[in-house]
Amino acid sequence: MMQNGSEAGRPLRLALIGIGKIARDQHIPALNADPSFELVATVSRSGGIEGLPSFTDIRDLVASDLEVDAVSLATPPQGRHTLASIALEAGYHVMLEKPPTATVGEVAELATRARAKGLSLFATWHSREAASVGAARDWLAGRTLRSARIEWKEDIRVWHPGQEWILEAGGLGVFDPGINALSIATAILPDPLLIQSAHLAFPANRQAPIAASLSFRSGRARVEATFDFLHTGTQSWDIVLETDAGRLVLSDGGQRLTTDTTEISHGANEEYPRLYTRFASLVRKGASDVDLTPLQLVADAFLIGERSEVAPFSF
Ligand code: NAP
Repeated sequence: MMQNGSEAGRPLRLALIGIGKIARDQHIPALNADPSFELVATVSRSGGIEGLPSFTDIRDLVASDLEVDAVSLATPPQGRHTLASIALEAGYHVMLEKPPTATVGEVAELATRARAKGLSLFATWHSREAASVGAARDWLAGRTLRSARIEWKEDIRVWHPGQEWILEAGGLGVFDPGINALSIATAILPDPLLIQSAHLAFPANRQAPIAASLSFRSGRARVEATFDFLHTGTQSWDIVLETDAGRLVLSDGGQRLTTDTTEISHGANEEYPRLYTRFASLVRKGASDVDLTPLQLVADAFLIGERSEVAPFSF
């Protein structure tokens, strides 16, 4: 293992773990296009990428003679703490998909462990890299937020077909997409977001909520959020912000920013290329980036939320 491949003038040798939807849709294309990385192996129980060494257990990767600098974990959050612990123990830098782990304590412990080993840990929030998030933060700075409304409504059957883990304990349920909205809100609002009340709807046959309504405070502003995993028709990943200077709408998951009259910013989806650029930079600098805030808000919603039981769900 080399601590820092790019220092030696060569790409970081990376193993991608969990070859599912997001690995194929985003991680593999982003890695293939990034000269800072060389994808050298996969770890997944059901198969890998043609032409690359593939392992079904991370312990077999560690025991192999393959030179690896870093791993990127694109598995579900349950079990990610174990995988990341093994990786750090082996001396690999670690990048985590969102949400970083199934509990707040697990990711905090990984951060401590990475620091002790002198390794980089990057707990990613891909939605923060959406094209117009930075513009929204800049627009809000210096203005007064009066209220905000978050609408994160999508159809689980369309976007997560057969992903049973999402509705198991630790899978976060509707907070799996909802935490993306929280990652954006916590990045753009001038004041911290604090939960005031929550209502969580659990299908009778599942351990995670399928819908949630949440009330927050941010400074003096009230922020309301609706997360719905059973939404058919037009899908929405929107944040509407009312300010002393008028209304701002951050839509399409952070890609587009408009006022009532003007489009301020609109860009292509470059979230995963930007995440990998940042990971390479963290490794080069010997730094970590672990922001627990979005996951803490989800944990807080589970702590204070009223619960109701709704109809059983099946894919
Ligand atoms: P997925 O399609 O279910 O893929 C996850 C992969 O992880 C599976 O193919 C599976 O591969 C492996 N895995 C290891 N342990 C598993 C377990 N106990 N249960 C199920 N699979 C397991 O999920 P995904 O949509 O790629 O999501 C993975 C992570 O990326 C999640 O944290 C999610 O929030 C995040 N993410 C997803 C999206 C999206 O649009 N889908 C977008 C952004 C972020 P093997 O069976 O081969 O081991």
